[in-house]
Amino acid sequence: MNPKLRIAYQRYTSCGGCQLTLLNCERELPLVEKFFEFAEFPMLSSCNDSDCSLDVALAEGSITTPEELQRLLTLRRRSRILIAVGACALSGGVNALAENRDILLSDIYGGETLPSETFPAQPIATFVRVDGEIPGCPPEGSDYLRLFGTLQQGGLPTEYAVPVCMECRLRENRCLLVDGKQPCLGPVTRGGCLARCPSYGAICEGCRGMVPEANFPEHFQLLLQTGLTATEVRGRLERFFGRYDEGY
Ligand code: SF4
Ligand code: SF4
Repeated sequence: MNPKLRIAYQRYTSCGGCQLTLLNCERELPLVEKFFEFAEFPMLSSCNDSDCSLDVALAEGSITTPEELQRLLTLRRRSRILIAVGACALSGGVNALAENRDILLSDIYGGETLPSETFPAQPIATFVRVDGEIPGCPPEGSDYLRLFGTLQQGGLPTEYAVPVCMECRLRENRCLLVDGKQPCLGPVTRGGCLARCPSYGAICEGCRGMVPEANFPEHFQLLLQTGLTATEVRGRLERFFGRYDEGY
């Protein structure tokens, strides 16, 4: 058997939900442990090696402080493969929602000087090369298991090219956008979640990022037909898609 791949899971500005999803794979983790050595994973163990070289690093969260940036640069130097995990790491996620950061800081901290310097939330790829990604807020457990299987075979994760709608139709859900006139983002969002939210009657919010070849001009018009204003549509699309082609 090949030697185990040495792996680290580091967290930056995030809620920790992505790594919790991994730890919730309780049945599969003993098998994963046969092929991977978790050298650094603070939510998993209090015994961590933050200096060793790594085969794989998983990075969760967006970068918002100079200290996080230094930690990320060090992680990149230590790692042969770096995987960005979850919407915060891929697009800035919920951390990047604040439209006016100055107002937010003054409302929350009352104009006091913060104990440490911060800057607007940035995706990990702004600063370092990323070799692969798993999307979602949080990702599915199956995303992690597919990743581990691929890495163990010497590969890297490939982009998932199927929209949420495809999986939603396979599950024979009633369409919330066409039938319910609700602003679902399934047509422009990459799948892999088995249409989790629409299957519970909740619209897709786009947390897995945009599917390749998403038709934003067409979807923009469909969202307007649900009663949203153009500003509201833009707000919804920018939440997890960052810059997208509106087609105008
Ligand atoms: S992507 Fe979502 S679940 Fe993961 S850390 Fe960010 S907010 Fe939490
Ligand atoms: S409910 Fe949403 S995800 Fe499902 S088919 Fe309709 S638009 Fe697509």
